[in-house]
Formats: sequence, structure tokens, C-alpha cells
Amino acid sequence: MKRDYYEVLGVTKTAPIDEIKSAYRKLALKYHPDKNPGDKTAEEKFKEINEAYEVLSDAQKKQQYDTFGHDAASGAGGENPFSSQSGQTQYTYTSGNFSNMGDIFGDIFGDIFGGSQSSSRRGSGRSAQKRGQDLRYDVDISYLEAMKGTEISIDIPKKEACSACSGTGSKDGSAPRQCPQCRGTGQVRYSQGFFQINQECLQCKGKGTTISNPCAECRGEGTVKKRKTVKVKIPMGVDEGTSLKVSGSGNAGTNGAPSGDLYVVVHMKQPAGFKRNGDDLYTEISVSFSQAAIGMEYDVSVLEGHVKVKIPAGTQPGTTLRVREQGFPVLGRKNRGNLYVKINISVPKSMNDAQKRALFEYSKSMGEIPNDAKYQNETFFKKIFS
Ligand SMILES: [Zn+2]
Ligand SMILES: [Zn+2]
Repeated sequence: MKRDYYEVLGVTKTAPIDEIKSAYRKLALKYHPDKNPGDKTAEEKFKEINEAYEVLSDAQKKQQYDTFGHDAASGAGGENPFSSQSGQTQYTYTSGNFSNMGDIFGDIFGDIFGGSQSSSRRGSGRSAQKRGQDLRYDVDISYLEAMKGTEISIDIPKKEACSACSGTGSKDGSAPRQCPQCRGTGQVRYSQGFFQINQECLQCKGKGTTISNPCAECRGEGTVKKRKTVKVKIPMGVDEGTSLKVSGSGNAGTNGAPSGDLYVVVHMKQPAGFKRNGDDLYTEISVSFSQAAIGMEYDVSVLEGHVKVKIPAGTQPGTTLRVREQGFPVLGRKNRGNLYVKINISVPKSMNDAQKRALFEYSKSMGEIPNDAKYQNETFFKKIFS
């Protein structure tokens, strides 16, 4: 049986968001796994606190929870007749993963270590908070960058807290008032027969607050669009389609809610002469017939520098040789993929007389030249060796 979320955080049902936040902050710091290594009870507690906070810190989820209890959070579908109304997202709470930790902790530590610009908003009571939107950015990187890892700076347009009004959206700094229409929930509920329909509140456009004297800079939004440079560390081993989450670098939230996340999606620029398949790197080289026949060590050009590859005597055209651990690093691990080198055989287009004679002799020794006076005499030689 799940404990009541309010009980978990030790707050009352009518507690304002800043009280919920501070209760969560205290508990989360106390039970954080870093502070209680190996303590299973603390870990369970920490999960429970996170789950409770995720619901109670989000006006919409909180409202659903207040109405339907834990059932609302299960997201099972079918059982809940209200779940498909007005395009609302179904919430699935996965206990036991810390997916929202990044945001919450970024936010908490931001608050603790001097990020106090949002405190002016804290007094506004039950105004609806909305987590900032997640953003996506696609980036092209080279094979070599994927192999060695890199750091990129990306310039993204994103919503930042408005500096003119410190994110309050209000011109004179007065706190936004709770919207009288929806009482701060951002949603208006209608009854229709057996059904209840939730709709976005028209008066506050779902924000839950109204501003009497809106800030001119941000038109009362509290956020403005700005270009921002974000540094993103790209770990070695990323591949086409790898998505990297940069917690808290999405759009700013409203009324002190956490920012969204930034997802950087990696694409690979394929260089000439190379191919990638998973963690393996593919390339081709051309060696002469005699090199393939006699065998040799070959310096194969790779993305950076060379790799010595032993070509065994008698290697056939089209043979692929494997060089272990010379491919891409496996993302998040210590081992690497392999390098595969396909061997093509080249035929010389021109030779000098000595070379021709040697090959002729070789060919003769292999029985390839008919043992016939017509082919063996000087006239024939003269024809080939001009
Ligand atoms: Zn409203
Ligand atoms: Zn503003």
C-alpha cells in the first residue's frame, strides 16, 4: 500500500508550493543516496520522496492526485474515464528511477547556492507552476569526434526567465495573483452527465495566475526568447541517433518551476573511404598482386594516423581482415569495436622492361606461357619489351 504523498512530505493538503518545495528539499538532502551509501531504507525513502514531489510540485498532477488518489498516477488507462479528456498527457510514474533528479537537484542546489532570483515569486502562494519545455538540438559530428569524444558549443534559442521582471511577468514587481476563474489550477472542470471534462482556463491560459500590470518586456509571460550558448560534452562512442540529455537546459519554467531538459541528438558525417557499423569501422586498401602473394605488413590509414596490418601470404582479392579493438569505443564502456580492412588487388598499368621481363619469367615458370618457339623467341620479346 502506497503512503499518502502529503504524508510522505509531511505537509498539509493546502500547503503552498514553496512549503512543498522546502519540505522536499530537506527530506531529499537527508535521504540522498550520496549521503547514505548502501542504506536501502534511505534509498527507498528517497524514491518515495521523489515520487511524491513529482506529483505535488506539478499543479496538474497534484489536482489529479487530489481527485483520484494514487489511481490517477498509475496511468493505467481504461479505468479512468477522465484520462482521455482535452488532450491531457497520461502520466506514468516509474518508482525506482531517478529520471527527474537532475532537474530537481539542479533546482535545489541552484536555490541553496545563491540562485535566489526566484525567491520573490515564492510568496505568491498557490500559483500554478509549469515545468519548462524540453528542447531538441541536432548536431553533426565527425567519425574522429565520435571516436575520441568532444565538447561542442551550441547556440540555441530558448526561453529564459525575463530579467526585466525577474521572471514574475509583472511590471511593478507585484506577485502574480491566483487566477480567480480556476483558483490557480489552470484548468476548469465541467460536468456533463456522468463525465467531467477538464479544459484549459481561458482567463489565465492555463497558467493559474493573472498579472494586473504585465511586464512590457515579456508581455507578462515571465520568460523571454534568447539565444544561449550551451556547452555539451559528447562522450566517445556516440553513434547516429544517440540522444544526450542536458538536464535543466531546456526552456525556463514558469513561477519558479524547473526548466525543461535539452536533448542533443547526434548525427554522423561519413568520411570518404570509411564506413561504420555499430562499434566497428570499415575501410578498404589496394595492394599489388605480388604484395598479396608474398605477404607483407601494411600501414592502413585510419581516421587519425595509421594502423599496421599484417597481410598474410596468398591473400585473395576481396578478403576482409579483422584488426581487434581498433574500431569505435563502446559507449560507456572500456572496450572497443574492431577495424575491418577489405583487401583489393591492383594490377599495374605500366611496367619497365626489367619488371616485364621478371613477370614474363614468372609466368613462364608457372606454365602460363605456352612452351612454343613462337612465344619464346626474341621477336616476341621485342614485341612486348619495346
Ligand atoms: Zn485561470
Ligand atoms: Zn518580464
